[in-house]
Amino acid sequence: MNESVFWLVFIVIGIILAIIFIFKYGFPTGYKISTTLTFKEAKDYFLIKHYCINCNSVLRRVSGKEYQGKGWSRSIDDGDYTYGERYEIKYILKCPTCNSEYTSNDLRRN
Ligand SMILES: [Zn+2]
Repeated sequence: MNESVFWLVFIVIGIILAIIFIFKYGFPTGYKISTTLTFKEAKDYFLIKHYCINCNSVLRRVSGKEYQGKGWSRSIDDGDYTYGERYEIKYILKCPTCNSEYTSNDLRRN
């Protein structure tokens, strides 16, 4: 293994470890993202085609962050409390024609 390959491997491993760290503990800055999406809702959202109740257009998948304010949040894993900005990711389905927004619960009820 020559030197440049060694450094390339070293950097790649570093990046992978950083991703695993962020995934597990969140951003070290206290920036917290959470979602309440259940497995059933995720399946509904990503795999099933939905139509608008008003105008029957195919709904587009939209996801966005909703600011939850500053506060303390607890890591799921180690029980540490971190202070920072909290966001929750919302997954909604939006109609491109009439701009109605639906959650997967809204659509199941109808
Ligand atoms: Zn519509």
